[in-house]
Amino acid sequence: MRWRGERESGNVEDRRGFSGGRVAVGGGLGTLIIIIIAVLLGADPRQILQQVPNDTAPSTSTAPRTGNAEEEELKKFVSVVLGKTEDVWQDIFRKNGKQYRDPTLVLFTDQVESACGLGSAASGPFYCPGDQKVYIDLSFYEELRRRFRSPGDFAQAYVIAHEVGHHVQKLLGISDRVEAMQRRMSEADANRLSVRLELQADFFAGVFARYVQKQGLLEEGDIEEALNAASAIGDDAIQKQTSGRVVPDSFTHGTSEQRLRWFRNGFDTGDISEGDTFSATSL
Ligand SMILES: [Zn+2]
Repeated sequence: MRWRGERESGNVEDRRGFSGGRVAVGGGLGTLIIIIIAVLLGADPRQILQQVPNDTAPSTSTAPRTGNAEEEELKKFVSVVLGKTEDVWQDIFRKNGKQYRDPTLVLFTDQVESACGLGSAASGPFYCPGDQKVYIDLSFYEELRRRFRSPGDFAQAYVIAHEVGHHVQKLLGISDRVEAMQRRMSEADANRLSVRLELQADFFAGVFARYVQKQGLLEEGDIEEALNAASAIGDDAIQKQTSGRVVPDSFTHGTSEQRLRWFRNGFDTGDISEGDTFSATSL
């Protein structure tokens, strides 16, 4: 993808190096030692706790860690990709008489606190509807390259575009409706609905890819990179890799083939009315 010189989104929140906001080990340990000494001297620990300033938050929240040059480059890249998703969805929402609200992209290391609870790098990038933020540990891209054998910058762009697709579903009320229905269903039925939600996010990622192509920013092999990633992180592929067998009932993202098909649909049509995975008779 030709991304250099393109607008970087301002909606990136850099929380790298915070590990869920509890990194001030030194301060915490210092506090603990003070309390132990004071208790040994006969003081009431509760009183001391009130006097000790809470030194974990302010000192860490002001200065995000800057990574190495490669990771800074990656941060720039995802900021441009997020900017493109803003452009395309602003445009599509406006044309449909709706207003798009930009989501925030949170960069984190290892683990992160979100309105949806504690997220970890191990579970991969995710979208939290509760705070309308996309979370990603940039080291996931290393995993995408190695474990899922999906190199290339457009594979990385696809990951962001998919998560933003979940944000679009939130704004359109789709995910809320699905969630309400799932509460009254068996687990297997609820999973089947989750698959449709995931495939629609892939469709939306395809719509994004078409927009980038129209701007003349796609390079040869970009679409193949995205398709490769969609296929590699399909549930069947992941399950085969981790457990050696495939269990269709627990699928929540769709098979590789389904993900490819819906991404392609989005890319070929660019029309969100074609992305109704919920009434599609065949996925
Ligand atoms: Zn998803």
